[in-house]
Amino acid sequence: MNAERPAVAASARSDPTIVIIGAGQAGGWAAQTLRNEGYAGRVVLIGDEAHPPHERPPLSKAVLAGAALPGSTQLMKPEAFEALNLEWKPGTRVSRLDRVARQIQFNDGTALTYDKLILCTGGRARRISLPGADQVVLHTLRTIDDALTLAPELKSGRSVVVVGGGWIGLEVAATARQRGAEVVVVETQRRVCERTVPQEVSEYLLALHRKHGTKVLLGAGVSGFSKRADGRSLVRLSDGSELACDAIVLGIGLVPNDELAQQAGLACEAGVLVDSRCQTSDPDILAAGDVAVTPNTWAGRRLRLESWQNAQEQGMAAARSALGLAVDYQPLPWFWSDQYDMNLQIYGMPLPAHQVVRRADPDAGSFALFYLDGNIIQAAIGVNAARDLRFARRLIEQRKPVDRACLADPNTPMSKV
Ligand code: ADP
Repeated sequence: MNAERPAVAASARSDPTIVIIGAGQAGGWAAQTLRNEGYAGRVVLIGDEAHPPHERPPLSKAVLAGAALPGSTQLMKPEAFEALNLEWKPGTRVSRLDRVARQIQFNDGTALTYDKLILCTGGRARRISLPGADQVVLHTLRTIDDALTLAPELKSGRSVVVVGGGWIGLEVAATARQRGAEVVVVETQRRVCERTVPQEVSEYLLALHRKHGTKVLLGAGVSGFSKRADGRSLVRLSDGSELACDAIVLGIGLVPNDELAQQAGLACEAGVLVDSRCQTSDPDILAAGDVAVTPNTWAGRRLRLESWQNAQEQGMAAARSALGLAVDYQPLPWFWSDQYDMNLQIYGMPLPAHQVVRRADPDAGSFALFYLDGNIIQAAIGVNAARDLRFARRLIEQRKPVDRACLADPNTPMSKV
């Protein structure tokens, strides 16, 4: 460890133990960061999945399409993971957290004492309980196992109903179409990805999916399911119509896995509340990744970020914080999605109070929307505009004033705006 930095508070004990619950991307980065910072004590990494820490973005794309093996998503090569010298407990669920005894308990009745605990429990795919839900298979897409179960269903001659026109729903729909399946997307809102992007971007996404032959039903609720005599599934919609299909996928959002924290009396608000040091309401317990609700200066409020960037960076930040290092985690949120040949990226948090400047290059099939406060860019959304967005990120972080007319002109390079 860097000699100028304070050591882990628990180092007075001969064998301090840092326990990480959740071996996804945040948990994996937390473990790796503890070692990178020179911490030589015990690290116990516990995950209920059977797989070593991995990234999830490819699961709805390359892995679901059969173009990449699940192993390709792993954060570390097996030798590098081995070299971290962790006590890794795959396929293991923690059933209880006792903060007074500083212990976690497992289903088999055994317990483990921690000095610092990092919660990286993430979230699970939301499910719906509607009549007939027990008669059909309702696929979700969150884990490697989900992707491997769903992949064989997506092929030519098969039809799929995707419930939910958010990011997961649209990514699964694109992969299914690319594999030749017939696809219908059912979305309750009047536009796709309503929660995260403005009207113009929703319209772009809708046109993209319709162009590729997906039927997208908007303002359409699901009222129930049933199984037909021929083995096909039926999805019943609120207007009384029915969709027959071979597979049903739910992409209706994520539920944070904050039950352990709630049961232990940690402050929670649809996720585990942490401060910018990733610390929960218990100074010996930290949280990171999809489960953590974090104050964010860019958004002006606390929020739970479900993104690749947050899983990695907050996992690293929580590990440093557990070691007593100074941490002030205030990331500029970054999110992306790939669907067909489209790449969409969002930096920052577009807010209603921002003024919007549009920059489009129809020849390149790209556009970007910039969200300004005065002449300072606060957020940006780009469709096939990765280069412009990279510049925008710098302008946002450096709070550099821009010329709006230049920003709107795709012939003026971003470096000159
Ligand atoms: P995810 O990460 O799972 O894609 P999002 O919040 O981006 O999460 O998208 C979920 C989408 O599912 C939203 O557009 C939401 O309106 C939609 N949705 C939620 N419940 C239902 C439902 N019962 N039927 C259809 N769509 C739904």
